[in-house]
Amino acid sequence: MSKAKIALVTGGSRGLGENMAINLAQKGLNILLTYRSNKEEADKTVREVEKLGQKAYALQLDVAENKTFNAFVDEVKNVLESHFDATTLDYLVNNAGIGINSPITETTEQDFDTLVNIHFKGAFFLTQKLLPIMADGGGIVNISSGLARFSFPGYSVYGSMKAAIETLTRYQAKELGSRQIRSNVVAPGAIETDFGGGTNKNDEDKRTAIANFTALGRVGIPSDIGGVVAFLCTDDAKWVNAQRIEVSGGMMV
Ligand code: NDP
Repeated sequence: MSKAKIALVTGGSRGLGENMAINLAQKGLNILLTYRSNKEEADKTVREVEKLGQKAYALQLDVAENKTFNAFVDEVKNVLESHFDATTLDYLVNNAGIGINSPITETTEQDFDTLVNIHFKGAFFLTQKLLPIMADGGGIVNISSGLARFSFPGYSVYGSMKAAIETLTRYQAKELGSRQIRSNVVAPGAIETDFGGGTNKNDEDKRTAIANFTALGRVGIPSDIGGVVAFLCTDDAKWVNAQRIEVSGGMMV
């Protein structure tokens, strides 16, 4: 039997990342996941993956703190060896993120820097630092947002950074193709999670407005996204490269 492949999912403790970890495990992958502060939720995801018969491990990481990435990569190397009996990662899912709703006129430099650091600079340098321990023939999945293309008031910096990671995806695909590493980007529509204070699941007016924007007439749920990400991390997607897949129930079509 061939050895299980390994995916690292950032922000795998809750929300979309948790569902991605479960879907990847259902496809037979072992999971290394990260959390920022919520260890309890991360441990819960680890147990869910283990129940599916796959190996899992959770590491703390703040993707806004790129100065910690060298030490993080050392930790990943140790865990690969001790927990997964491996030396390389096969897939990286750059998922961790937060939402800050702030009109242009009120955006502080601090909020700007936080969004840039998490959604673009963090994903850029984390990928760069992990590439030496990524297996040739593996892949990267970056998580963008419908807001990279649709303009909702209050999301100018967030949406711009998601657009930046979409562009970065194409460059990753181009520059890493010689190693047979693919890079694709999944752009979810609005999904019910704790993201941005949880308004997608708790604010009824917002939910109705979002549902009306989609052709299918509802707000998304995490399992609408996880399976698409997992598909990209299999050989079924071995010729899918440099693509943006929007997963939004047909938003603004
Ligand atoms: P959640 O708030 O439910 O989960 C966020 C996850 O990211 C948690 O695991 C959290 O860790 C982690 N995280 C947050 N900040 C950091 C940080 N600085 N460093 C490392 N990890 C961090 O959000 P979602 O699951 O909804 O969002 C996941 C991704 O999907 C984000 O990139 C978001 O932009 C994108 N997205 C979400 C949409 C939605 O409607 N929900 C729509 C489109 C895109 P911890 O548990 O420790 O806090």
